[in-house]
Amino acid sequence: MAEVGLHVELLGKTGNALALIYAACRQCYSSMFAAEIFEKVPALEDPCKVSDFIGKVMASGHESPLEHVKFTFAIEGVSRALTHQLVRHRMASYSQQSQRYVKESNFDYIVPPVFKKDKRLKKRFISVMEDIQRGYNDLLGLLKEEGTEGEIANQDARFVLPQAAETKIVVTMNCRELKHFFAHRCCTRAQWEIRALAGRMLEICRKELPEVFTGIGAKCEELGYCPEGPGFSCGKYPLKSDVIKP
Ligand SMILES: Cc1cc2nc3c(=O)[nH]c(=O)nc-3n(C[C@H](O)[C@H](O)[C@H](O)COP(=O)(O)OP(=O)(O)OC[C@H]3O[C@@H](n4cnc5c(N)ncnc54)[C@H](O)[C@@H]3O)c2cc1C
Repeated sequence: MAEVGLHVELLGKTGNALALIYAACRQCYSSMFAAEIFEKVPALEDPCKVSDFIGKVMASGHESPLEHVKFTFAIEGVSRALTHQLVRHRMASYSQQSQRYVKESNFDYIVPPVFKKDKRLKKRFISVMEDIQRGYNDLLGLLKEEGTEGEIANQDARFVLPQAAETKIVVTMNCRELKHFFAHRCCTRAQWEIRALAGRMLEICRKELPEVFTGIGAKCEELGYCPEGPGFSCGKYPLKSDVIKP
C-alpha cells in the first residue's frame, strides 16, 4: 500500500467536434440539412466564423448543441470520497473499479493536504490506513476459514475500507454537462480533491476544444459575479448583491 495522487488521461472525444456543434447550432436557424452544413464547415473561408457563431449561441444560453460532443476521461489516484461526489453528476456515464471483483489486499490511499502538512498527523493517518489494511486482510482470512472466498468475501470485507482508498474510474460527459460540472466543482467552495480533478479536466478540455472551453470555469467566470453568499466568496469577483440591485 502507498500514497498516490491524481492522474487523468483523455481516452477519447467525439471527432469533428467543432463542425458537429456548428452544424447542430445552424440546423436550428437554417433551411439547409445539418449533414450539408457539417460537410461545408472545413471549407468555410473564415474559420473564426465558426467559433464566433458557437460563442454567440452559447452566450444566449442555447446549449443543447453542446450535448452532441462527448469527452471520455480515465481517472486514477482519487479517493472513494471523490467518486462519491463525482457520480452525483447524473448527466454522465461511469465505469468504476469494483471493490467486489478487485481484492483490496494492498490498497493505495489518498492523503488529504491537511495531513500532509504535518509530519505527526501524516504518520498517524498512514498508521490508520495500515490498521484498516490489517483488519481487511484478517477478515478475508477468517472468511476463508469459513469457506467463503473471492468476490463473495471481497464484497463484505470491503465494508471496513476507508473513503481514502484509491479508486479508478472512466467518465464520459458531454460538453454541456462538463460546463455545469466545472461551474460547480472549479469553485473554491468545492472540496479540494474534486476541485483538483475538475481543474485538470478543464485544462484538457480547453486544449482540445478552446472554442467551447475558453472562459469556462467556476460559475463566477461566466457570470462575472459570485453567486455564493457573503462569507463564502473567495473574493475573485464581486458578490451578486453588489452587482445586481433589486
Ligand atoms: C459545494 C458543494 C457542496 C455540496 N454539498 C452537498 C451535501 O452536503 N449533500 C448532498 O447531498 N449533496 C451535496 N452536493 C451535491 C449537489 O447537491 C449535487 O447533487 C451535485 O453537485 C450534482 O449537481 P447537479 O444535480 O446539478 O448535477 P447533474 O446531476 O449533473 O445534473 C445537471 C443538471 O441537470 C438537471 N437535472 C438533473 N437531474 C434532474 C432531476 N432529477 N430533476 C430536475 N433536474 C435535473 C439540473 O438542472 C442539474 O443541475 C454539493 C455540491 C457542491 C458543489
